[in-house]
Amino acid sequence: MLDIRNLRAWYGQVQALRGLEFHLSEGSMTALLGANGAGKTTTLRAICNMVRTTGTITFEGKPLEGLSTESIARLGIAHVPQGRGIFTTMTVEENLQLGAISRSDKPGIISDIERMYGHFPVLKERHRQQAGTLSGGEQQMLAVARALMLRPRLILLDEPSFGLAPLIVRDVFRILGKINREDKVTILVVEQNAQLALKLADTAYVIETGRIVMSGSAADIANNEGVRRSYLGY
Ligand code: ATP
Repeated sequence: MLDIRNLRAWYGQVQALRGLEFHLSEGSMTALLGANGAGKTTTLRAICNMVRTTGTITFEGKPLEGLSTESIARLGIAHVPQGRGIFTTMTVEENLQLGAISRSDKPGIISDIERMYGHFPVLKERHRQQAGTLSGGEQQMLAVARALMLRPRLILLDEPSFGLAPLIVRDVFRILGKINREDKVTILVVEQNAQLALKLADTAYVIETGRIVMSGSAADIANNEGVRRSYLGY
């Protein structure tokens, strides 16, 4: 579904990706693991054309080169950035409606909002509340739900567990698993919480200083001694 070849990325003079290569299969849930500064966030930003890159990124056979971030979203790639990117002064429901801004099928939008409330009942309870007054976990759920309103084929999630209590993290990941299986949305998730990410993902990649250094099934990566020592702490 998504193919990345020889991807290099720069912030001014700073090179953040150095020939990254990877492949996402349709329907997969893939974890991208790595230390701070390894280039995980940059990889997601590169897919959305938010950073200067060279190399090729192909989504469902179409090269993304030269497309704007908006056009890439319209092709079916949703991005949930670190820090969530919701509109804090708008209500929960307004955020969900904005997620569907590029769609014109009103009945579909209304039924998708209800579907999101099914996935995330707490958002239904709080649909008139200002998004900025939600708890961290609720804001994370809203960010995921808002991204899904685009009806993406692929969702890119940057550290969905960031700042959340362990029980809430498990809840968010459980719902992500459900969305992956039931709604057939392919998921690429960047995570510091490697243990949880490897439990839920089927495939994993490890990135070090802008290059993929390891890839395989999540189970194999979780059993790798180097990964255990560096990322799992045992
Ligand atoms: P973390 O887990 O800490 O979020 P990461 O793996 O997501 O790290 P990136 O944010 O992709 O790492 O950063 C990769 C490299 O690019 C780092 O060396 C970082 O300092 C650098 N970098 C990121 N953003 C910028 C920027 N706006 N300007 C200059 N350098 C940047």
